[in-house]
Amino acid sequence: MRHITILGSTGSIGVNTLDVVRAHPDRFKVFALTASKQVELLAEQCAEFSPALAVIGDAQGAARLTALLLEKNIRTQVLYGPEGLVAAVTDSACDTVMAAIVGAAGLVPTLAAAKAGKRVLLANKEALVMSGNLFMQAMKSGGGELLPIDSEHNAIFQCLPPQFTKSPKPALGVEELWLTASGGPFRDTPLEQLTAITPAQACAHPNWVMGRKISVDSATMMNKGLEVIEAFWLFGLPLEKIKVFIHPQSVVHSMVRYVDGSVIAQLGQPDMRTPIAYGLAWPDRIEAGVAPLNLAKLADLSFSEPDLGRFPCLALAFSAAKTGGIAPTVLNAANEIAVAAFLDEGMSYLDIPKVVEKTLNAIQSGPVDSLEVILDIDAQARRVARDHISAI
Ligand code: NAD
Ligand code: MG
Repeated sequence: MRHITILGSTGSIGVNTLDVVRAHPDRFKVFALTASKQVELLAEQCAEFSPALAVIGDAQGAARLTALLLEKNIRTQVLYGPEGLVAAVTDSACDTVMAAIVGAAGLVPTLAAAKAGKRVLLANKEALVMSGNLFMQAMKSGGGELLPIDSEHNAIFQCLPPQFTKSPKPALGVEELWLTASGGPFRDTPLEQLTAITPAQACAHPNWVMGRKISVDSATMMNKGLEVIEAFWLFGLPLEKIKVFIHPQSVVHSMVRYVDGSVIAQLGQPDMRTPIAYGLAWPDRIEAGVAPLNLAKLADLSFSEPDLGRFPCLALAFSAAKTGGIAPTVLNAANEIAVAAFLDEGMSYLDIPKVVEKTLNAIQSGPVDSLEVILDIDAQARRVARDHISAI
């Protein structure tokens, strides 16, 4: 029996995780559920899954959640804020953590889960992009298992030899990792029309249903840039061996090219319950509620190289990955601020890459050697990005 904490249980990944958990009460028990603001949904989830612990964003939310749980006669303990999140992942009664908070807010609890030796199911790619080596070292010293949930990385994990992630040796013959990308809703939109893109258009992904931030990242392809950095840390291959291909059908979730000419791919429906179920049950495979893939019904599968002129965010991410050090932390923070300004403040879609680029240029690169440095750089990059947005 796995005892699971879901960081971000009310989000898209969180809800899909609970869907898989619900179908396997013999395998999984929820230890803790957490959310930032959605008190009602969190209370409903507590009523269904009876976790020992629920964590909400702040004291006010905690008071409302406590009252709701009392009404429903549920004995879940309520905590709040970042300390509550850390308590939910470090408790000895929890062995598995689904890291599904969006953005930098997930870093501290995800890192705490890594240090505490839990099985970490990593959806929150921003946490790894920000902290890189520090996160991988924390996993190593904690002695737990890191399983990627991002569909591309989960696919690559499935296509690699099992011993690869423990010690990537040349003898295993892995030559390249090929990340696929749908290209998002604006893959073919005439460039001059991009000035008028609205948040609703950017969030309408052709193949996947996801949270708003990652939907915008998919439209700009910053998501794929973050995923290249994520793959670099997860699998330890040099950056030049990590390639991106546009694959509009989202059927091939990613591939591994081997030295002998073999290319191994993982295929499936664009449904996150597949990688979630794989991570939860690994090394077993369990029913995930996902419709079988019908190959005969697929019209075609196409692949092409991304146009970096159309997707400047992807080019910025490649460049930050190459620079290394704090550059990915800056890239991530500036992108979070720019995407929020686009979604909530009416900033133009085309200003997203401009804000990211200006922020990257404004902050001197340096090494990432502690959590304090990362949090400090993250805060600095957010201030610089906000200043650029105010000046637009
Ligand atoms: P979402 O916006 O739907 O959900 C985010 C969750 O995080 C919610 O439960 C929210 O309450 C919580 N949260 C937000 N801000 C918080 C804060 N400051 N403190 C504590 N909790 C906070 O996002 P999502 O689409 O589920 O994505 C979650 C993560 O998974 C992201 O990092 C995303 O990149 C990654 N991911 C998502 C998908 C997908 O299909 N949705 C696929 C691959 C990777
Ligand atoms: Mg992905």
